[in-house]
Amino acid sequence: MSLIVEKYGGTSVADAERIDAVARNVAASARAGHQMVVVVSAMRGETDRLLALAREVNAAPSSRELDVLLATGEQVTIALLSMALHALGVAARSYTGAQIRILTDPIHGQARITDIQSERARRDLEAGKVVVVAGFQGVDPDDNITTLGRGGSDTTAVALAAALRADECRIYTDVDGIYTADPRIVPEARRLARVTFEEMLELSGAGAKVLQIRAVEFAGKYDVPLRVLSSFTPGPGTLITREDSAMEQPLISGIACNRGEAKLTIRDVPDKPGIAYAILGPVSDAHINVDMIVQNIGSDGLTDLTFTVDSEDLERSRAILEPIAAELGAAEVAGDGDLAKISVVGVGMRSHAGIATTMFRALSEKGINIQMISTSEIKISVTIDMEYSELAVRTLHKAFRLDEDLDGELDGELDRDSDAAPAPAP
Ligand code: ADP
Ligand code: ASP
Ligand code: MG
Repeated sequence: MSLIVEKYGGTSVADAERIDAVARNVAASARAGHQMVVVVSAMRGETDRLLALAREVNAAPSSRELDVLLATGEQVTIALLSMALHALGVAARSYTGAQIRILTDPIHGQARITDIQSERARRDLEAGKVVVVAGFQGVDPDDNITTLGRGGSDTTAVALAAALRADECRIYTDVDGIYTADPRIVPEARRLARVTFEEMLELSGAGAKVLQIRAVEFAGKYDVPLRVLSSFTPGPGTLITREDSAMEQPLISGIACNRGEAKLTIRDVPDKPGIAYAILGPVSDAHINVDMIVQNIGSDGLTDLTFTVDSEDLERSRAILEPIAAELGAAEVAGDGDLAKISVVGVGMRSHAGIATTMFRALSEKGINIQMISTSEIKISVTIDMEYSELAVRTLHKAFRLDEDLDGELDGELDRDSDAAPAPAP
């Protein structure tokens, strides 16, 4: 008998018919003798509907009350799924995040899970009941309802799987696995049979919203066997695994795109110790995520500092920066809100040069201007005008021949010596 945690996303529970289909899938596994924990998202569009409703009554709703509101979306689906399971003769009980003791920090809207007290779930499982859990929510040390950030039900599922030492965590969604690029942008994208935790972390961090990044972090940290599958069509999906040295590593596993980024530049700040901290410290204290950071080589004792944030945080960041800029005597704070970040990810990058050249050449041939560049050992990201994001993803998908099954043939074609690709691993 194994313990399986399954998570069904919004499209998979979009209406009564879909909920019934999920119940049948869960019932089949329960009847096969598995202990089942099922995490569900709100019905498709519900979280957005609630967000819009909140903004209708208050342009800047309190983050605490927003969490109380948003958590209702998932409370609807847990009850409906349990009822659907009962209709099939399967014993099931639904729980909110607070009831099942998903404990989080108090950062409303982007809370992190700190602990899960899993006794209640275990009792039900031992009594042969399916445990149905509301994704995306928890409770802070003062018993306030918190939510885990958009896409947070993935993290609920993986964290529960880790806490219960589940044999497998299955993320059911509307695509049948992880693809070489978002199949909505690149119809030729191919499903990957496996992808490493590291690559998936980079892909999620770079905007592939198919898995929330914190879910991947948890899975890697606690070694949770994780698989992404379709709730619509049967198939093996994609397994997210540890890197296996015996495994042939693809050069590039995927391309991700994050639209809606913004760039802020503070011009002519004094080039002296403590400047980056003076500028970025207050931004991070306001829980604004800073992504790429570039500081130019200074001249005449002055320098420019540029960094990117989510577009939604542009005005808030600007408001924080303006008084700091005035205090430092900076020339100006400039902001640009319509950018996208395009990233090419692959563990094979460690041992191959030429990736950056191929990427920059392909973009230049389409006349796409690169504004910022950043690299990690297994990723190269560029920021570009948002208008060109889809063209850039399709262009790079083709340039790296991800629509073909190559088995490493590409290696010989890359320029080996004219390139600024990340250094190979030691
Ligand atoms: P759910 O509601 O089930 O959580 P999401 O919308 O959060 O589903 O995630 C699934 C979507 O992620 C897909 O419909 C797809 O458009 C998008 N996506 C982005 N990048 C990828 C990728 N590399 N592979 C598969 N899907 C991707
Ligand atoms: N319902 C939440 C959202 O739309 C959480 C999730 O679906 O994972 O982001
Ligand atoms: Mg999701």
